[in-house]
Order: sequence, then C-alpha cells, then structure tokens
Amino acid sequence: MNELSSGWNHLRGIEPLSLCDWPGRTSCVFFLGGCNLNCPTCHNFDMAWNMERLPLLSREDMRSFLRNRAKWLDGVTITGGEPTTAPNLGEILYEIKKISKLPIKLDSNGMLPEILEDILQQGLADMFAIDVKGPYEKYPALSGQAVTAEAAQKNLDRIFKLAEANPKAFYFRLTKVPILTDEDVETAKGYLPDGFDLTIQNYIPPRRDHALADNEERRSAGNMVD
Ligand code: SF4
Repeated sequence: MNELSSGWNHLRGIEPLSLCDWPGRTSCVFFLGGCNLNCPTCHNFDMAWNMERLPLLSREDMRSFLRNRAKWLDGVTITGGEPTTAPNLGEILYEIKKISKLPIKLDSNGMLPEILEDILQQGLADMFAIDVKGPYEKYPALSGQAVTAEAAQKNLDRIFKLAEANPKAFYFRLTKVPILTDEDVETAKGYLPDGFDLTIQNYIPPRRDHALADNEERRSAGNMVD
C-alpha cells in the first residue's frame, strides 16, 4: 500500500491538548479524514468529505509530537470524520500506542462494527465512544440517506453486544440535532444495554453553506451503508 492510499493519508489534523474529548483525561486528538455517512448536520464536513482541503499531518510529525508530548498526556483521542474508514487503521493505532504508551479512545459512528470488533480484539484501543444518532427509522434522514434503518439497527446491535461483553470499554453519545424530539432521545436511550447511559451533546450547526451543497452532491451519488 503506498502512502497516498494508506490510512496515513487520512491524518488531517491534531489538537495538541484537549480537556473535554475524553472525559476525565487530558488527551491529544488526532483527526482522520473521510466518512461513510453524509449527515446533513455534520459539524466537521471538510474533515468528513473533503479531507484533501486540509493539510496532511505527516507520519513523522505525529511520531515527533508523541515522543515530545506523551509524558504530559493521559490519553490519545482518535476522531474524524469517521476513523474506521481509514485504511490500515490498526497500523496507525499500533504506532501511536507503541510510541506514546498511552491509552487510546476511538470515536465512531458505529456503522463499521467489524472494524471496531477487530480493533478491540487486538487491544489497539481502550475506549470506544459510539454515536447513537437517534431512532433507527430516522437514520436515513440523520445520515443523509447513507444508511438504512435496518443497517443501523444491525450495526448498533453488534456494537451493543461488544459493549455488554466489555462494559468498561464503551460509552454512547447522541447529538440532539433539530430533527430529534425528546421522545426520539428516549427511544435511542432504550436501545442501550443495561448499565449504559446515553450522553446527550448539544448540536453545533454547520459553519459554511458549502456543507449543504457538498452534502447534496454526495447524497445524489447515493451510496447506502449495509
Ligand atoms: S458520521 Fe455524520 S456527523 Fe460524523 S463525521 Fe460523518 S458525516 Fe459528519
């Protein structure tokens, strides 16, 4: 795999210090561009759909940052976009762990559960923050027609089973976007396995008009997650 087609080409941002991305920990945040959904409410659309517009963070810069800064951190957060869409994600996580010796939290929309399961089984991440976007029947609207209600349920059910077996390694979040009612939030809460809470996040609207144009373009191309 050459560098352009590898997951390293998805490394498109870094926040050196965050006190809120991993509750209870001081972490740095690496952003992996690309996403398998087209959420009309996406707050990070360039990262999700147009990562080429963002400067590449080189593998060597990442290594150098971790060598210098890991001692001041409690963890590393990997977010996106959708990190599980980056090829050879495991290799990236392995390298981060090897250099930093820090625990890793992986953010995900949960629509590629087989990748999350693989990462979990290999011990390449220690915490998984999974988005539950709303009631399954609203997933087509919530995801910009990228995922059906049936696929959303199938994928999240698989993750809920992983969470039941590894309760300390998962937590679940919902962003209360405008199309969700209070009843929808309660419905989504009801999906979680016993003992889990749904963390409700405030909605941050998209920042530029072209987000909607880009989204329309992607939606008309019309790939559904299955
Ligand atoms: S899952 Fe949706 S909100 Fe999250 S990065 Fe992808 S398009 Fe944006």
